[in-house]
Amino acid sequence: MRRPRAVVTGGAGFLGSHLCERLLREGYSVLCLDDLSTGSAANVAHLAEIGPFRLVRADVTDFVHVVGDVDAVLHFASPASPIDYLRMPIETLKVGSIGTLHTLGLAKEKRARYLLASTSEAYGDPQVHPQPESYWGHVNPVGPRGVYDEAKRFAEAMTMAYHRSQGVDTAIVRIFNTHGPRMRPDDGRAIPTFIRQALAGEPITVAGDGSQTRSIQYVDDLVEGVFRLLHADRHEPVNIGNPSEVSITELALLVRDLVGATSEIEYGPRPEDDPTVRRPDITLATDLLGWRPEVGLEDGLRRTIDWFRATLAASGPAAASRAV
Ligand code: UDP
Repeated sequence: MRRPRAVVTGGAGFLGSHLCERLLREGYSVLCLDDLSTGSAANVAHLAEIGPFRLVRADVTDFVHVVGDVDAVLHFASPASPIDYLRMPIETLKVGSIGTLHTLGLAKEKRARYLLASTSEAYGDPQVHPQPESYWGHVNPVGPRGVYDEAKRFAEAMTMAYHRSQGVDTAIVRIFNTHGPRMRPDDGRAIPTFIRQALAGEPITVAGDGSQTRSIQYVDDLVEGVFRLLHADRHEPVNIGNPSEVSITELALLVRDLVGATSEIEYGPRPEDDPTVRRPDITLATDLLGWRPEVGLEDGLRRTIDWFRATLAASGPAAASRAV
């Protein structure tokens, strides 16, 4: 029997690289398309040992051309951390809009299952808590985060339009905050920043009064949810996230404890439109996919911290104290 083949855009990024690895372990051959603007070849250097894997440097907003059969297209390409998408606002809008158009076109041509990586940011600064998929969200389209939020909301609309009008077999995952190995220490998000600061004995920079909340999942749980959704018969969005909700101050203190550091907590300004609360309602994922997160917050953070410790030690003290 022919091996199934997946195209993963953004496959050299944090989530994409874990996803490529899982697909290879499940017997897929994987073509990874990445422009390496936030991902890196180092993230996927080990994958060719696991199975048939190819990395092609490509910007999916130019065009997407793939020779041969394709069974699944997973569109994970996008800057995803606030400092990345604020630095690359037009690229972020393009990959969510034109990139989604091109990858949907590929899925249509190949009659492949299509899976869009969407985001809890689609809910914006939510006025319903926790957030079920039926909630339409509360997004400021013209604020600085609008470039990411609206690109993903447009991507969801485009995906449903291809499903409804073109009969493409599509899926949408709304991904909540995720952490794990291969996050960039300088990507500016809370977890890599706090770990890097704690490991270097520097102050931990908490935005605002730190009472805003996030619900944090370990990358292995996310990948399991995405893999199940890829093989399910569902077209409407599905939340994948761990409902265990913490305030950002609690998160900073927990990271500091787990690292064994004595860093001060330094309170600073809160970014514009920073959501005040965030927690997934995962009833749908549990009912539909039999999915629930398996890795607890502390256990997951220990794993991520171990990886950062090893990686920053290998790259020297300069990397450990690099300013973001
Ligand atoms: N945050 C913080 N210090 C940092 C980076 C982020 O306090 O050095 C806050 C940020 O303002 C937000 C929360 O941590 O309230 C989570 O931010 P992150 O960028 O990790 O994810 P997102 O806002 O996309 O959920």
